[in-house]
Amino acid sequence: MIRRITYGLLAASLALAPRVAQGQLKVVTSTTDLYDIAREVGGNKITATHIGEGYQDPHFIEAKPSFVLQLRNADVWAFVGLDLEIGWMPVLLDGARNPKIRQGGSGYLDVSTAVPVLDRPQGNIDRSMGDVHPLGNPHYWLDPENGRRIARLFKARFTQLDPSNAATYDANEKAFEARLNAAEKGWQSELATIKGKPVVAWHTSWRYFAEYTGMNIVAFMEPKPGVPPSPSHLYEVIQTVKRTGAKAIVMEPFYDRKVADLVAKQTGIKVLILPPSVGGVKGLDDYIQLMKYDVSQLATAVR
Ligand SMILES: [Zn+2]
Repeated sequence: MIRRITYGLLAASLALAPRVAQGQLKVVTSTTDLYDIAREVGGNKITATHIGEGYQDPHFIEAKPSFVLQLRNADVWAFVGLDLEIGWMPVLLDGARNPKIRQGGSGYLDVSTAVPVLDRPQGNIDRSMGDVHPLGNPHYWLDPENGRRIARLFKARFTQLDPSNAATYDANEKAFEARLNAAEKGWQSELATIKGKPVVAWHTSWRYFAEYTGMNIVAFMEPKPGVPPSPSHLYEVIQTVKRTGAKAIVMEPFYDRKVADLVAKQTGIKVLILPPSVGGVKGLDDYIQLMKYDVSQLATAVR
């Protein structure tokens, strides 16, 4: 009788064993781009979810209760940083009550620490003017070199938290870099087309993409990051477009296209809606596809 019970327990624990032994790291990311790169590196050793969607403005995400639940059980919270998530992250972290993912915790991962940041403000930081980039420009994932840096950061943190799978994280990360390198070779001629071409960007989110592609941003539709264009600013943009022969207004799907169309009507410039993130257009399901799509759309628009 005792033996039978023991066998029963043994059988039950064996049935559970694969799930328990696997012990996948639970990773939550703020954006779809971080989510995709985390998955590339973590493979089947992690489970990952993301808070924002690729078609949403990452500065302004609604803090839903379901996100709190995801964060409550997370081993890793990876976010873009530089205050991109300042409007919604603190309330979610407070609600989650998970010491692992709070500042100083083992799973708190500020991804901006891995990249060189553009547009770091000089002198005093002044948010009163509506600048949503008080610590520097947070849209750094739109440069493949930073994509690689993000992947290496995930590898380092996953390895630290889960050393038994270090070899897998290393192999996955190298495979991701190899695929990205190969993809980049495929779009070199498009980069050559883009290089030096004058464009207007809506938000400074395209600064890193410009550094990478060589497109020359001659004006921003926003007078300051996060501040919508005033009539007087628009007048200046129109003059700049006429003077430089700028080819396209590059903008995310969540900004006001009507305003861009107004500039287009006055100058003949094209309006080019580009997704800034994975999932920003249906079917763009991974980081490499996103970069390929944006490069090719831009090359076609400025050709
Ligand atoms: Zn921004």
